[in-house]
Amino acid sequence: MHEMSLAGGILKIVEDAAARDGFARVSRLVLEAGALAGVEVSALRFALEALSPGTLLEAAIIEIEQPAGRAWCMLCSQNVSIGSRTDPCPCCGGWQLTPTGGTAVYDAVVESLKPFAQRSHQRAAIVIVSDGADTASDHSIADIRPLVRRADAFIYAIAIDAPSRRPVSGRPDPYALREITDASGGYTEVVHASADLAPATARIADELNRQYLLGYAPPRGADGKYHSIRVRTRDTSFRVRARRGYVAEPYADGR
Ligand SMILES: [Zn+2]
Repeated sequence: MHEMSLAGGILKIVEDAAARDGFARVSRLVLEAGALAGVEVSALRFALEALSPGTLLEAAIIEIEQPAGRAWCMLCSQNVSIGSRTDPCPCCGGWQLTPTGGTAVYDAVVESLKPFAQRSHQRAAIVIVSDGADTASDHSIADIRPLVRRADAFIYAIAIDAPSRRPVSGRPDPYALREITDASGGYTEVVHASADLAPATARIADELNRQYLLGYAPPRGADGKYHSIRVRTRDTSFRVRARRGYVAEPYADGR
C-alpha cells in the first residue's frame, strides 16, 4: 500500500525534526493531500495511526486537509474545482472534464515560508515532497525567487517520479524544483518509488546535522539589495553546499 510508505516517510521526517530540535511529543500534525493526488486520505490516516504507538505521534491529533482538485470543463470553457476525478462539473453538471491540477508546489512553498519565519529553533529546513509538476499554484516560480532569497530557509525537494503511478499533473519537474532548492543551499533528489522517501529524507536529515552556520557583516551595510555569496574551502576536495546569496535588509529595530 502506497499510503503505508508515505506514512513511514512522514514519521521519519517528524523523528528527524525531533532529534534535531529536541522535542519529544507531537500534539498536532497537519498534512495536506491534494484531492487528485492519488492519496487515499483514510488509508493514510489508518497507516499513520497504525505506525504511531510508541512513537512521537502516539498522542498526536492528525489533521489531513484535502484541497480540491482542478479540471478544465469543455462546455463551460473554464477551470473548475472538483473533489474527485469522478465528479461532474459544478457549474454545468457536465462530464467533459480534464483534470488540470492537484499539484501546487509553489503555493506550498510560499505557505511554508510564513510559519518558518516565526520558528523558535534556528536549525530547520523545508522539505518538498512531490510526485507531479506544478500545475495548480496561484504563485509562479518568479514569485518564489525573491521570497527564497529573503528567507533563511534551507529548502530541499524529493521528487517521486514513479513510472507505475503517474499523477494527473504529469511528471515532477526537477529543474523547476532545483531552481527553488539550490539557491537556498538545499538540493533536489529524484527518487523512483515512494518507498525511497525514507532513505531520501534520512540523507537530508544527515546533511542538516553536519551543517555549519557562518556569518559576516556585509561591507556595504543593509542596502536592501541582493548580493551573491560563494563559500569555498581551501581543500578543494570538499564540495560545499551553501546558499547563493542574500538580501541585505536592516533588522526590524533599524540596525
Ligand atoms: Zn461545466
